[in-house]
Amino acid sequence: MPDDDRTRALAHGLQRVEERIAAACEQAGRTREEVRLIVVTKFFPAADVLRLHALGVTDIGENRHQEASAKIAELPSAARRDLTVHFIGQLQSNKAAHVVGYADVVQSVDRTKVVRALDRAAAAAGRECTVLLQVDLAGDDTGRGGAAPAELSDLAAAAGRAEHLRLQGVMAVAPLGGNAREAFERLRRIANEVRVNHPLATWISAGMSGDLEDAVLAGATHLRVGSAILGSRPPQR
Ligand SMILES: *Cc1c(COP(=O)(O)O)cnc(C)c1O
Repeated sequence: MPDDDRTRALAHGLQRVEERIAAACEQAGRTREEVRLIVVTKFFPAADVLRLHALGVTDIGENRHQEASAKIAELPSAARRDLTVHFIGQLQSNKAAHVVGYADVVQSVDRTKVVRALDRAAAAAGRECTVLLQVDLAGDDTGRGGAAPAELSDLAAAAGRAEHLRLQGVMAVAPLGGNAREAFERLRRIANEVRVNHPLATWISAGMSGDLEDAVLAGATHLRVGSAILGSRPPQR
């Protein structure tokens, strides 16, 4: 295990987040095993991914294609094998083939065009790609991505038909300034509707540094936490 100040800071951040998750699970009457922590490493270097790996982190999230692809390529193969890489950023269909090259899970599928592009790319790579459908909970097209809830059943049908995609669930970001708990309860209902026709779509990815407790209370199975563990990043675009 690397023994440097940065590793100690990350260990401390992880421990605080684990405490928050444990408290929220207890409040929700859930076990810690029902919730998976994805550490969002965007803006931070491959060296931090390796430190997190040494600290026992199993899942990382990235949201920018070029940064992610370079960073994942830098990882030694043993660490790469241990980690599940989640792509959580907005995705152009012309980038889909490249994302399939390094991401194990694509959480931000919000158009049938992206479904088709990912399916073709996974077929060409000879593998299956796990996907989540991103839902726009704000309903005002604020540019954070996601399909409108009304479009979801068609999108789920397309993903379900795609031979090389495994439709595993839904993902969302809480609307800015809104009530996160209420938004995540809506996501839970949407996830239940998707599961009627797609019983294997059991994942609900919700909750970030500021609202992970709300997500756990609303049944999230995956949390995407960045700044509470890695510290603050430069402002985004
Ligand atoms: C950056 C990001 C996160 C993590 O956000 P923090 O507030 O740093 O925890 C989660 N989900 C998505 C989609 C992101 O882009």
